Amino acid sequence: MHLELESKIEKNLYGKIVSWQVSVFLPINIFRRKEMSEKKWVYLFNEVKEAEAYAGSWDAVRGLLGGKGANLAEMTRIGMPVPPFFTVTTEGCNAYLAEGNKFPGGMWDQMLAALKEVEKASGKKFGDPKNPLLVSCRSGAKMSMPGMMDTVLNIGLNDETAKGMVALTENERFVYDAYRRLISMFGTVVLNIKDEAFEHALDAVKKAKGTTADTDLTADDLKGLVEKYKEVVKKEKGFDFPQEPLEQMKLATEAVFGSWNGKRAIDYRRAEKIPDDLGTAVNIVTMVFGNTGWESGTGVAFTRNPATGENKLYGEYLLNAQGEDVVAGIRNTDPITKMAETLPEAYEEFIKITEKLEKHYHDMQDMEFTVENRRLWMLQTRNGKRTAAAAVKIAVDMANEGLISKEEAVQRVTPTQVDTLLHPQFTGNTKDDAKKAGKRFATGVNASPGAAVGQVYFDADTAERMAKEEGQQVIMVRPFTKPDDVHGMLAAKGILTSEGGATSHAAVVARQFGVPCIVGASMMKINMEKRLLESDGTVVKEGEWISIDGGSGDAFVGKLEMSAPSLEEQTDLLTLLGWADEICDRPGTRKAPEGWPTTGLQVWANADYPQDARRARSYGARGIGLCRTEHMFFEQERLPIVQRMILAESSEERTKALNELLPYQRADFAGLFEAMDGYPVIIRLIDPPLHEFMPSEEALLEEVITMRVKGETQGLEEKENLLASIRAMHESNPMMGLRGIRLSIVMPEIVEMQVRAIFEAAADETLKGVDARPEVMIPLTGHVNELHYIQPRLVEIAKEVMKEKGVEFHYKFGTMIEIPRAALTAAEIAGVAEFFSFGTNDLTQMTYGYSRDDAERNFLVTYVEKGILPVNPFQSVDTAGVGRLMKMSVEEGRAVRPELEVGICGEHGGDPDSIEFCHTIGQNYVSCSPFRVPVARLAAAQAAIKHAAK
Ligand code: ADP
Ligand code: MG
Ligand code: MG
Repeated sequence: MHLELESKIEKNLYGKIVSWQVSVFLPINIFRRKEMSEKKWVYLFNEVKEAEAYAGSWDAVRGLLGGKGANLAEMTRIGMPVPPFFTVTTEGCNAYLAEGNKFPGGMWDQMLAALKEVEKASGKKFGDPKNPLLVSCRSGAKMSMPGMMDTVLNIGLNDETAKGMVALTENERFVYDAYRRLISMFGTVVLNIKDEAFEHALDAVKKAKGTTADTDLTADDLKGLVEKYKEVVKKEKGFDFPQEPLEQMKLATEAVFGSWNGKRAIDYRRAEKIPDDLGTAVNIVTMVFGNTGWESGTGVAFTRNPATGENKLYGEYLLNAQGEDVVAGIRNTDPITKMAETLPEAYEEFIKITEKLEKHYHDMQDMEFTVENRRLWMLQTRNGKRTAAAAVKIAVDMANEGLISKEEAVQRVTPTQVDTLLHPQFTGNTKDDAKKAGKRFATGVNASPGAAVGQVYFDADTAERMAKEEGQQVIMVRPFTKPDDVHGMLAAKGILTSEGGATSHAAVVARQFGVPCIVGASMMKINMEKRLLESDGTVVKEGEWISIDGGSGDAFVGKLEMSAPSLEEQTDLLTLLGWADEICDRPGTRKAPEGWPTTGLQVWANADYPQDARRARSYGARGIGLCRTEHMFFEQERLPIVQRMILAESSEERTKALNELLPYQRADFAGLFEAMDGYPVIIRLIDPPLHEFMPSEEALLEEVITMRVKGETQGLEEKENLLASIRAMHESNPMMGLRGIRLSIVMPEIVEMQVRAIFEAAADETLKGVDARPEVMIPLTGHVNELHYIQPRLVEIAKEVMKEKGVEFHYKFGTMIEIPRAALTAAEIAGVAEFFSFGTNDLTQMTYGYSRDDAERNFLVTYVEKGILPVNPFQSVDTAGVGRLMKMSVEEGRAVRPELEVGICGEHGGDPDSIEFCHTIGQNYVSCSPFRVPVARLAAAQAAIKHAAK
């Protein structure tokens, strides 16, 4: 803070007098710079306390050192075996990028000093052939971004140190294996050479040997490969592979910094809503070797099963292998439990560490380790990515185990994960039938659960294009995936690979995004030239349909039928949602003025039919926030009556048609009240313009013309009359025309019938012992006088019906707030209306002056891409504009009527960000589609926790 201020003043001063006193001020300037460079860019493995003192909190330490660096330091602090290392901070990365890819002052010197300490701790020396220290250069942002940034291993090897290491280890094979890995990793990551260049060279050597396994290659083979790799570098770049270890370290560090702004990192951040200005840290870590022989190895493990959540160590390892080998799926791995036999001491220690880590971090851990000559080294730990089902199970289990609180459990699961759990699965026996019919063409590792049906594409670009431009459902099929495939994976409904295991790139990314995925379906051969796959005698060409089940690992040709899973069977999810409701129901959660709700939000549902209402209720809805009555008009036997009603020339004629409709509506409403026994049901009176119920003008005109041309006369006149009536109803902008309350004022008979139907149904149900709570909602109010005109007439009908039927029950009359003028005059409107419900779709359209269809088709995507709008305002409430109107409405409405009930019934009611906003402005409930209810319950609880009154 201080320094910044000073440097600004300096700049002004400098700017003013620059013309005559440069020479005097320049040295001062340089001197100041030097002072600023004292900033600490580098933290040693044992400096986590210093980092904490500087950053202020553990979260900020993770921001400063990155997740990987912070956790390595923390593991070191609690006495776990971690190879000595140092971390260059994310601030260093940001400074590097800000200065146009230059190390900020002091950084390199601090790295050199830290390297000296690492040398001391490891007893080796960087670049010293007698006992060389090798290091890895690893990226690590605050949020783990799997596979997004690249790691270079074995830095410090060159022709000289390699020889030295051979003398030291007497293991030439191992040394040249490490050396060739360095050249290829360095070549691809730092020098941007395509992997293929190195892969070709490796394949050639293997082919000459007649093998496919890296482990069959001898020391001489690998030594030869090193020379070939060096030639690749020379040929591709025109210069030699850098032999100077410090230069290797510097270039690798720069490459990691640079990769923060690489396309794939940016794509990932967009998808995950990770801010761009976090930066990545760089970790320089003493190499430990899993490839020194058969008493060494490397592995990856989770403290619980990341696919199911089962509380059992889950992982895999490889003997005599280094780093990425396990993740890359190059060789077939062994399950972690087998390590108990092959590396017993290391295994035992590892088990203890896993238990300690989970207790330490209170979350499931994803760990990387290496065993070098029977000695265990921890290389990473982080909170593990998991499937939606695992997230729920782990959260509930950990709360039950007392490891975390219910609030924490509720926060451990994202709304998207809940959504995933309610997504389709293959119906009943479809899969068995498909198997019997011989449709299964491959099986693999069940890497990410869920069913997916789509057309096959063999590369990420095509997959993305087909999904985005052609609107196809896509399944991306690849041998394996790499970070630059992520855009295709995000666009796909499912992913299928022929190589790799449960922790391969494809599996990790798919789990995280909830995309169904099968990996390692090794019977499958992908022919990229012919663009087809062959498997088990089946050929699938690009563009053909397949179905995959990521939960079982089965892939089928053709489209299999899918259905939604039942919530009732998901007991862990039910428990968690129960906790969510408990949290929302606590009085005092919101501090509020008299009359305002002090609990969290309730979740209601939009349901037009009794069956939807029943589903909503079974999903936990506490009311119906919107029943759209006009949907009922479209049913086959009703539409002709509706049309007759619309075309009626006299009020009597209209009333006659309406009287025919009344019993239908009454039955619909009765069903709703029954389904929602004890809960409020908001029924919206007719809303759309009437032309929506009529045949289309174009189609009718065509018919009339055809009839005339063919000389058909029977029924012609009738059709001509109908056409004339429809033309007479034409409006140039029907959405802003005669609809909603305006229609009710011009043509009150319709809503009078509807209100009668509502109250007759409520009365009948009440007499049956149902606790019916009708709430009548008038749409599209813009002026309080509209309500003054229509509402009292409707209230009269309600009273009439109650008298006729001889019952009393509670009811409300209210309005939608969807026209900005209504929001602006909320105080007046609340004088008449007993409740408000935000119709945020129309409110957004009218506040922005966008028509949704046109906007989404023509420019919204561009707006969001260019950052003109942060998000599509039809998906998430625009809090600054539309939201401001909402907030005002609540405040001014409740000033007049403190007990005013306020909700939202637009699609936004199911969007977690919008739900949070609704919570903060004091709404009583949100209402969304029945399928979104569980998601909304979780989001409501998360909002309540986040904004809990202290
Ligand atoms: P990622 O973020 O992709 O997991 P890492 O930095 O963790 O990248 O490294 C990639 C692989 O290299 C991992 O398997 C890791 O365990 C291994 N690795 C990294 N540094 C070392 C080291 N100093 N010694 C041995 N293996 C290492
Ligand atoms: Mg990586
Ligand atoms: Mg890692």
